Amino acid sequence: MKYKEAYKNGISDYLGVKSYQIDLYWKGRVALYALLKSFGIKKGDEVIIPAFTCVVVPNAILYLGAKPVYVDVNTTTLNTSLDHIKPKVTDKTKCIIIQNTFGLSSEVEEIITFSKDKNILTIEDCTHGFGGLYNGQSNGTYSDAAFYSTQWNKPFSTGIGGFSLLNNLDYLKSLEDVNNNLTKPKKKEKYILASLIQAKKYLLHDSTYWTALKLYRSLSKSGIVVGSSKGEELTGTAMPDNYFLSSTPVQNKVGISELRSLNHVLEIREKNGKIFNEFLKKNGKWHYKKEDLQNHSFLKFPIFVKDKEAFKVKAEKAKIRLGDWFVSPIHPVLEDFELWSIQPNDYPVADNLSKSILNLPTDIEKLNKVIDFLQKNMDDLIDVV
Ligand SMILES: *Cc1c(COP(=O)(O)O)cnc(C)c1O
Repeated sequence: MKYKEAYKNGISDYLGVKSYQIDLYWKGRVALYALLKSFGIKKGDEVIIPAFTCVVVPNAILYLGAKPVYVDVNTTTLNTSLDHIKPKVTDKTKCIIIQNTFGLSSEVEEIITFSKDKNILTIEDCTHGFGGLYNGQSNGTYSDAAFYSTQWNKPFSTGIGGFSLLNNLDYLKSLEDVNNNLTKPKKKEKYILASLIQAKKYLLHDSTYWTALKLYRSLSKSGIVVGSSKGEELTGTAMPDNYFLSSTPVQNKVGISELRSLNHVLEIREKNGKIFNEFLKKNGKWHYKKEDLQNHSFLKFPIFVKDKEAFKVKAEKAKIRLGDWFVSPIHPVLEDFELWSIQPNDYPVADNLSKSILNLPTDIEKLNKVIDFLQKNMDDLIDVV
């Protein structure tokens, strides 16, 4: 109990909100599910989401019997825009999810103003954006609610984990009722958590990173450690057993200490993001427009390449850490798209981006190695427009 309260206080202080607005969960996706449920989202309702996200987002909607309605993104922000959203709104639209892809939030105010006018609720997917600001205000504090992830790849990590922020207090009681049904993770889940916390420690250091990655990959393949998604979350749209789980004292304890060093990491991310952007701009490759970069802390920095697989091989040889978000409009799904009511070609921008996008780490102290590598392989990079 003491960890839970202290962790909630740490998060709420960071965001500049009240502790009772925060709830802790086993994963970020569970926080999203809880919020949607507390908003009364049910069969027949529509929820608008970007067609450039993680499959766990449409899953949370489908688990409630509601319909995910996808919206294409644009190449400048890798986010949706109000112009894309408007034509998708119907009288069944109950909620719009606004994502800050790689940490960048865009058009949040415009989308929220529009939604309020139409009586549509908004949730920010801040799984990449914790700690970043939008118009000087913490990501997630504009909308009716927001959810955050603390999975090992996210702004700060508790192995796996997540939390929600409720800004619209009309739903406080409803969310409390929903959360009364949370159950505690079992032994097996706790074992997975412990191994992920351990893996994260190794992944932090260059000297152990590559060995840890190999181990992690083979563990994932054998099904012992499943990075973030269970097999059944990638092959079907029925809610798995042991989905609606609360956070554990271990996660809360790790979270408290992670928050203490977060400012330093966020500063590095912001600084590195700007350096990468300038460098790519100078070389005529894809980059963010200057005005989009203010106060954003980039969780990863996107690059676009001619041949993803070949580039990944080169990078691994040079020991450059690359990520592959998003391999499809509903990462990491690559087949049976109809299960999620999506056809990638219906979202040509997102579909096209996912064929050429990779991402660079932003949390490293020394950038030279990465910059040198990019310089050497500049012909492999492209500018998507
Ligand atoms: C990681 C991620 C999530 C889910 O977070 P979990 O904590 O793994 O459930 C949701 N949306 C996006 C865009 C993500 O990258």
